[in-house]
Amino acid sequence: MARYTGPYCRLCRRVDEKLMLKGERCAGPKCALERRSMAAGQRRAGQRGTGRRPRKMSDYGVRLREKQKARYSYGVLERQFRRVFAEAQKTPGKTGEALIQLLERRLDNTVYRAGFAESRNEARQLVLHGHVTVNQRRVNIPSFLVKPGDIVAWSERSINQEPYKSALEGIDSKVIPSWLSIDKSNLSGRVLSLPLIDEVGAKFDGKMIVEHYSR
Ligand code: SF4
Repeated sequence: MARYTGPYCRLCRRVDEKLMLKGERCAGPKCALERRSMAAGQRRAGQRGTGRRPRKMSDYGVRLREKQKARYSYGVLERQFRRVFAEAQKTPGKTGEALIQLLERRLDNTVYRAGFAESRNEARQLVLHGHVTVNQRRVNIPSFLVKPGDIVAWSERSINQEPYKSALEGIDSKVIPSWLSIDKSNLSGRVLSLPLIDEVGAKFDGKMIVEHYSR
């Protein structure tokens, strides 16, 4: 299955936004973007900067950037993202919101939102390595879409392994969206409803992505 294998911080640098792709590290001073802005500040405190003025982005560039932010956030390659977008276009209602909802319903994202992993990338690994079940059946497809009523849990063989133990230790500190209900004693989660757009905290503008593909 094709996926991005380069450094994650490079993706944040490309769109100049903290996309939180590495879990805990992103919140600390080790974040590459934080270090870069500190370095820029230090340069300003000295006599001279680079002398370069920020370039004004074209409308196309702005919309493209929103699309890239969405892609990078959910770890989806272009071809797959286009497929999700085409699916969103077929969904009644606003396409931008349908797109966000489809991305949120991905199994790797659901595992991340359920607090089983520190980042979507880590969640994707859990799914790929067969640690996750949906309705008691192992599912190792990160793009699998969950629906209301589904039970997302750990496979039986995983509960003695390190990823499960560290997820169990950290679960109390996680903020779980209201469309999921988590049993913290055994780390299983029930999907209560479709993801709520207000709770997503998207770092991109769905409407601009629609404009990008409609040009
Ligand atoms: Fe890297 Fe995370 Fe910072 Fe992005 S937010 S630059 S992934 S540390």
